[in-house]
Amino acid sequence: MRIRNLNPDSDIGASAWWLEIDGHHLLMDAGVHPKLDGRESLPLLDLVKDTELDAIAITHCHHDHVGGLPVAVRHHRRAHVLMTELSYFLVERVLHNSVNVMKRQAEESDVADYPLYTHEELDEIAPLFQGFKYNREIEWAAFQKSRSGGSSPTLEFFDAGHALGSAGVLVRGKRETLFYTGDVCFHDQTILKGARFEDVKADVLIMETTRGNRAVAPTFSREAELDRLIEAIRETLKRKGSVLIPTFALGRTQEILAALALAMRAGKLKHQPIYIGGLGRVFTEIYDLEAHRAHRLHSNLQLHEALNLVVLEKGQAETMKLAGGRIFVITAGMMSEHTAAHDLAARMMGDKRHGIFFVGYADPETPGGHLKASQVGKPFFFSPSGGQLTRNCEMRDFDLSAHANRGELLDFVGEVSPHTVLLGHGDADARGWFAEQIAARHPKIRVIQPAPGLLVEA
Ligand SMILES: [Zn+2]
Ligand SMILES: [Zn+2]
Repeated sequence: MRIRNLNPDSDIGASAWWLEIDGHHLLMDAGVHPKLDGRESLPLLDLVKDTELDAIAITHCHHDHVGGLPVAVRHHRRAHVLMTELSYFLVERVLHNSVNVMKRQAEESDVADYPLYTHEELDEIAPLFQGFKYNREIEWAAFQKSRSGGSSPTLEFFDAGHALGSAGVLVRGKRETLFYTGDVCFHDQTILKGARFEDVKADVLIMETTRGNRAVAPTFSREAELDRLIEAIRETLKRKGSVLIPTFALGRTQEILAALALAMRAGKLKHQPIYIGGLGRVFTEIYDLEAHRAHRLHSNLQLHEALNLVVLEKGQAETMKLAGGRIFVITAGMMSEHTAAHDLAARMMGDKRHGIFFVGYADPETPGGHLKASQVGKPFFFSPSGGQLTRNCEMRDFDLSAHANRGELLDFVGEVSPHTVLLGHGDADARGWFAEQIAARHPKIRVIQPAPGLLVEA
């Protein structure tokens, strides 16, 4: 088989992997790079535009995996787009929302290429989307009649435990198999149960490495970390400050809402309204509606019933009173400009009563990353529109990751027992840690860190 890494950058970037197996072509994910703008944020699709794709498989509906899908489809109008049925419920919402975000960015930041696709184009390609249950074998190259002379390779989605609908993809060819982890979480979160990747064996493994540069203390427990978060919220509210928890709309928002609902139910927090974003509300509804279909804990916990969720109106983040203790669980996780999280953070950080609590990754070069690195009382650069700010409020970082710990992923490599591992979706030091560890533990495994666009024979 041949594999090409289409991530335009060598960091976490935009996920997109092109695969050639038994003469057929599959694209796995078509994300956009969260830190790049316009066409530069897209996968390197030009490199593969001359070979027709039989299918595109999407691992989950985060932007860094799906945000470039409509552009990928534009080059390959015959490719069917395969995903889990849970992702199928989400994907159009996610992409229509990105059109709105890109249109806003075009107005506010003057990015000439935006929007990269339109609402009309999305409606046109939506019939290509197909949802499948986990652990069904799909003949992904059989859709193209002209080429279906021989048998088709298959693919199967395995529950990745990362966000609703997330999956790893097992591709089986005539002689060889490949497994792509997508984003994976092996431990249980508050709602979603950990990945079900047991018994996955493959010749080639493409693995995410997000947390390769992060060691977890042996004493760490997610429950204790959640308790600390709830306690920090309580303390902030007691001193009449507001709480801002910046999160991604899909996945993290619902995990945090579930933790708040359970804390309120247990009497650890008083009932009060929780402000969320419009997209967060939509996804929360889908989490509630599909509770029976998801592999999850607390399957009777309906977030909309358990909590008083209030959608923050446009412009409200700039004007509403913050003293007196409000709770915001709001996008975006990295506090990109022109988001409610960005504007609220800018307003809140000068007042020492407030608390800003991170519960996930924020790239060091984003406003969220700048804030994470800030020190109390010392001016720092927040963002081009926010400028130079000084933080006096409490700011803390809680490790409630939806990504596997590096030790778990390293064990997983041993279980899959591939002859080749391709490391992706991680910063250079994160990939480097895995490369070293795999070489030490499994010297026979070939480890590759494919540069952007590099074609690998595996
Ligand atoms: Zn993800
Ligand atoms: Zn990702």
